[in-house]
Amino acid sequence: MHDIVIVGGGAAGLSAAIYATRAMVDTLVIERSSIGGNVSLIVDIENYLGFPHISGDDLARRFEEHANEIKVKIETDSVISIKKDDNFIIKSPKNEYVAKKVIIATGMRPRKLGVMGEDKFLGRGVSYCATCDGPLFVGGEVAVIGGGNSALTEAIFLSNIASKVYIIHRRDKLRADPIYQKRAHEKQNIEFILNSVVHEIKGDEQVESMIISTNGVRKELKVDGVFIYIGNVPNTEMVDCEKDNNGFILTDGNMMSSIEGIYAAGDCRAKHLRQITTAVCDGAIAGWHAANSITQA
Ligand code: NAP
Repeated sequence: MHDIVIVGGGAAGLSAAIYATRAMVDTLVIERSSIGGNVSLIVDIENYLGFPHISGDDLARRFEEHANEIKVKIETDSVISIKKDDNFIIKSPKNEYVAKKVIIATGMRPRKLGVMGEDKFLGRGVSYCATCDGPLFVGGEVAVIGGGNSALTEAIFLSNIASKVYIIHRRDKLRADPIYQKRAHEKQNIEFILNSVVHEIKGDEQVESMIISTNGVRKELKVDGVFIYIGNVPNTEMVDCEKDNNGFILTDGNMMSSIEGIYAAGDCRAKHLRQITTAVCDGAIAGWHAANSITQA
């Protein structure tokens, strides 16, 4: 049995782990893939205090080095359920972990557009990660779907690789911060296609075009790649606590969910500002509170 199991080894999970491990309670982080989480996929981070410019990959590496230095215990496994017994039972397909407290820091995954061709051409022109797949489109023409910060920052990144980047957004107003809107508008090879809906992604072996409609008028747009950035879905299916309408976990100020002893931290938590800095902050509060409630019991 562990004192605390933290599910997720991204910014929130590792921050929680550092606070809990330093409080000398037995802490285990369970991460299904890579340490650092979604942070490692960000091209350039400009708003994390102390780092005017740092790549996501570099910051994720620093997170990992920091966790290793503090001797945070990390296990690679995929949690599928968390249930309350006398303690908490955390299950993966092959293992079962028991803990006095659980911190869920599982982040979120890209929302799908749900159009024909999206699944068929995944990895063959359709992508949810410009950092990973952008370099495949040197000199090509790509579309970015969405009007939020992710869509614009990734479109700006892609504009340095592709010859043309279309930003296709369903409304006439962008959701992205003004600074990203300004930078995108300054790029000669970014074209905004607003008031537009994607109907289909087409091709033979690879993506060749998309069917979109702008103000209700349908047309075919030739593209080599489609990058979908239309928001995210929280990875919270493994726990049955109170959530908002979109599945994000509701917490109190100590990051405690509606189930006493289960905390949520980072992007999987219901909140207004999803940033690395707020994930780190949530993790610190959750890790500190969970550890304190064990040492002070
Ligand atoms: P987001 O802010 O939720 O934006 C999603 C965009 O996709 C919106 O423009 C939305 O349109 C559009 N959309 C949603 N569902 C759609 C659908 N079914 N079809 C077509 N379009 C659809 O998501 P995000 O850009 O991924 O950002 C997520 C969070 O990370 C945000 O809090 C963001 O600020 C943060 N972030 C921050 C930075 C940074 O600070 N550097 C960078 C990236 C992300 P509507 O506008 O019409 O709703």
